[in-house]
Amino acid sequence: MALPLSCAPRVKEVLDYPITSTVATNLLAPVKTEQQILENSMLEDDPNANCAVASVPQERSGPRWGPQHKGAQELANLYSTGKRTQECICVGICLTLMVVNCMFILFYIRLEKLSTIVVAALCGIVTADFGSGLVHWAADTWGSIELPILGKNFLRPFREHHIDPTSITRHDFIETNGDNFMVTIPFLGRMVWDFLTLSKEDVENKFTWNCYVFLLAIFVAMTNQASCYEYLTDLGKSIHKWSHTYFGLPGWVIFLQDCHIILPRRHHRIHHVAPHETYFCITTGWLNWPLEKLRFWSALEIIIETLTGYKPRADDMKWAQKGT
Ligand SMILES: [Zn+2]
Ligand SMILES: [Zn+2]
Repeated sequence: MALPLSCAPRVKEVLDYPITSTVATNLLAPVKTEQQILENSMLEDDPNANCAVASVPQERSGPRWGPQHKGAQELANLYSTGKRTQECICVGICLTLMVVNCMFILFYIRLEKLSTIVVAALCGIVTADFGSGLVHWAADTWGSIELPILGKNFLRPFREHHIDPTSITRHDFIETNGDNFMVTIPFLGRMVWDFLTLSKEDVENKFTWNCYVFLLAIFVAMTNQASCYEYLTDLGKSIHKWSHTYFGLPGWVIFLQDCHIILPRRHHRIHHVAPHETYFCITTGWLNWPLEKLRFWSALEIIIETLTGYKPRADDMKWAQKGT
């Protein structure tokens, strides 16, 4: 039955209002407010804390963030010679595999396939961004430094990074990149194997897929380190590292950050708001906003906590509280 003309718009308004307004409010709401950022993250662009908000509680006797934090110092001291050796080996193998694969790609590349390669590159960037988020989320949220092998070698940098975010700007090329380079080795190794053992026809059939894997590996490697150019000039900067560098960045890096082609500093600050429960993607950060609005990470955490009983970020909180 049709509604009387006079009341139909009002009923429609009531019916529409809650759904549309909730969705709109949710979509438009900032993930972290300026106040939350100021009160719950280290002021990396203001190292002397001149702009620190007066309302921040001062009940802690030790610093909440920075190189003076006791937990950060303890974690920094756990960086061992064995770990350093593993990182050197991984960087060496990864760079060799990248050069060999690059030569094979240049040998097989056909200009008429350029559009497919561009699509493969874009897919590679998005996959790398998601992969960086997944690994970062898993390492930040679960496990502990006490875990054998994994804890001290692979979770330690994540814990250290939350309580001393600018320590990354003081790490050299090997320490910054060792782990990211290691992740790419099986994929790059498989690619070399394919190029060497498959027939010419099979290599051509698999070419787009290999371009995607190669570019994905490059972006994963670039997440913590910028490029061969940076390596050669020994600047030792990185996409993630740049997102923590507030002074002396080259103009072209600031341009890429402002265009959101690489992770912008103000964007990444949202992840550094305690308790570090969102914005885990650190290659381009393109997926951070949609994943947060979909409640992707919190849904995963609820499922895992229900199944295992483990509390998310328990170890991270423990280290953060070692202020004194
Ligand atoms: Zn983190
Ligand atoms: Zn960071």
